[in-house]
Amino acid sequence: MQLYQDQSLKIYNSLSGEKEMFTPLHPGNVGMYVCGPTVYNNVHLGNCRTFISFDLVYRYLKHLGYKVRYVRNITDVGHIVDDADEGEDKIAKKARLEKLEPMEIVQRYSVDFHQILELFNNLPPGIEPTATGHIIEQIETIKQIIDNGFAYVSNGSVYFDVVKYNEGHDYGILSGRNLDDMLANSRELAGQEEKRNPADFALWKKAEPVHIMRWPSPWGDGFPGWHLECTAMSTKYLGNKFDIHGGGMDLKFPHHECEIAQNKAATGHSPVNYWMHANMLTLNGKKMSKSTGNNILPREIFSGNNQVLSKAFSPSVTRFFILQAHYRSVLDFSNDAILAAEKGYNRLMEALDNVTEIKPAAASTIDIGVWKQHCYDAMNDDFNSPILIAQLFEAVKYINLLKDGRETLNAVDLETLTKQLNMFVFDVLGLKNEAGNEAGNDKLEGVVNMLIGMRNEARANRDFAMSDLIRNKLGELGIELKDSKEGTTFTLN
Ligand code: AMP
Ligand code: ZN
Repeated sequence: MQLYQDQSLKIYNSLSGEKEMFTPLHPGNVGMYVCGPTVYNNVHLGNCRTFISFDLVYRYLKHLGYKVRYVRNITDVGHIVDDADEGEDKIAKKARLEKLEPMEIVQRYSVDFHQILELFNNLPPGIEPTATGHIIEQIETIKQIIDNGFAYVSNGSVYFDVVKYNEGHDYGILSGRNLDDMLANSRELAGQEEKRNPADFALWKKAEPVHIMRWPSPWGDGFPGWHLECTAMSTKYLGNKFDIHGGGMDLKFPHHECEIAQNKAATGHSPVNYWMHANMLTLNGKKMSKSTGNNILPREIFSGNNQVLSKAFSPSVTRFFILQAHYRSVLDFSNDAILAAEKGYNRLMEALDNVTEIKPAAASTIDIGVWKQHCYDAMNDDFNSPILIAQLFEAVKYINLLKDGRETLNAVDLETLTKQLNMFVFDVLGLKNEAGNEAGNDKLEGVVNMLIGMRNEARANRDFAMSDLIRNKLGELGIELKDSKEGTTFTLN
């Protein structure tokens, strides 16, 4: 018997606006698609929040005993600056600025993406398709949509006919937007003249002669539209109907709205049973974003190398900070907030050490079965990680009382407590015990501060050769000293 037969999981479905009982299409199996990154830049912590949120979903579904096929794509073509239909491809633009091949940009930032997510202990998806690897599938989907009368060819590009689609379907069903309002508010933008209506969106774009990323198609050389990629790749690996589709809240419109329209236009039915949207990570109250520069990079957090930070924080502490908020709430990043998360994380790790030292008693004074079910109830309630963490801190309280002998557990209950606590912390939340590294960091901090002291003394003695030597040797090790009026601080690179 699998755990999912015992536990009733509810998922908030963005399409209905309600928490619904989760029933997969095929009992015991779950198909999940999550929009992956557009690989033209280093992923920032906001992007990571979304991927960590879905890693939690993946981990919990697996824990419940589901066989999960998790597909997360890489967008390596077709995502235009400003999410528009006209303009430069984000990857091509970066390639031009850096004087590299687009595929060099794709490779560089795909590698970075994978390294960062591994540091965060995210499990890799089962399939990670790239848009450029699925051009044939995308062309086939476009042909179907044209054959069904919902798209038209215009000057070598193919556009989705939103007005035609809306006659029998509901464009706006996911985002709550109304097509008439959209049409009334649309501006005349350059390149729009090819479209029947400004709300129409590109399925295929004609490549201008200078465009490097191009493929032959029945409509001439071109490249696919961003929304189409996810429709083609999700249905290829999960079927025309699948269970869960996820992404950040900012993808609801137009990206996911267009995905629904494309699927319905191609196959006649809605592709996804549960739409899940992760809320935004903000910095200074504003959405973290690549384009505005209002962001913080994971490596800056791990090294402490950002003016927002007073020190470095480990990947698990950062992950814990993220999971302390529910995935549908906005979360603001700040030094104080991550410092508080670090304290909590350390307390949890300490309790995990302490629990191994507790001796069983003849009888239990705590009902561990009730505690365990509370943990499941939290996760069953739309993956409520903050409530789960609150329950784990209940366990921390128990452990302290058990240690002092003020409460007791029999051998079976003690084993349940230990096993469940480890399982929720490591398997479901995906944390690692980096408390040991923390102790190492404290030692390192002590040694560097000692060297800073020696350098200050050398400078006071006008022994500049020695003070430069200390600075340069530390620099070679990636430890950078910063002098200011308040004194000298250091960062690890
Ligand atoms: P992109 O590479 O821009 O397509 O973004 C990759 C993923 O990160 C998408 O699911 C976005 O919705 C998500 N994302 C972007 N910015 C943020 C943010 N500030 N907080 C949380 N998720 C974000
Ligand atoms: Zn997508």
